[in-house]
Amino acid sequence: MRRIFLALCALFLTVTAVGHCSAETRAIYQISTITALKEGVYDGRATFRELKEHGDLGIGTLNGLDGEMIALDGEFFQIKVDGKAYPIMDSAITPFAIVTFFRPELQLSLRNLPNFLSLQRRLDTLPQTRDNFCAIRIDGTFAYLKVRSVAGQSKPYPGLEDALKNQAVFELKGVRGTLVGFRFPLYMEGVNVPGYHFHFITEDKKQGGHLLECNLEEGQAGLAFIAALDLRLNEQDGTGGSERK
Ligand SMILES: [Zn+2]
Repeated sequence: MRRIFLALCALFLTVTAVGHCSAETRAIYQISTITALKEGVYDGRATFRELKEHGDLGIGTLNGLDGEMIALDGEFFQIKVDGKAYPIMDSAITPFAIVTFFRPELQLSLRNLPNFLSLQRRLDTLPQTRDNFCAIRIDGTFAYLKVRSVAGQSKPYPGLEDALKNQAVFELKGVRGTLVGFRFPLYMEGVNVPGYHFHFITEDKKQGGHLLECNLEEGQAGLAFIAALDLRLNEQDGTGGSERK
């Protein structure tokens, strides 16, 4: 696996989804793959300064798997293991991130979606979501949210499954805030998370995390359907820039 990963490292790939194609050239910009993250590649090379050149909305993590990252309106936040949101310095580095310049093509009013599954089913009713990459922003009032974050890991790094055994889970009730996320088709498994993946931040930008469960009272969703993925791997020179177990 290591060898295959390294063989890929000299490459960066542009993958184009079949289906809807916008005349505008827009892409989702992705650092590394979910498979690399699952295998414990928690140190990347891309700074947030670079990342900001490729998007103003997104999710991800920081080197060492130090918390959950959420970006909206060009502001990047780290949700640390204490569940609180901290602005990210431009010099910080990410091992895994997905960003895009968010220009929603479709707006949708949402109401009374009592759990995460019902939210996903509602978004799935849009025909455009099926075969496209979707960037999604939902501003709303939530009766309940369950979110998580994770502490920065020490070397030798455990795999993601083991690292998440020590995740911190937070329950929020009656909050306004924003979900930022993406939907990737099933065939993107390994490259990214198939289906929906959201991070949350409260309206006052003080708390948040990776979404585990939610009860949405009402909200406004904006969706962008994007057919291009600009994928950059971490170990671009093949010298092993990332540590792993
Ligand atoms: Zn996440």
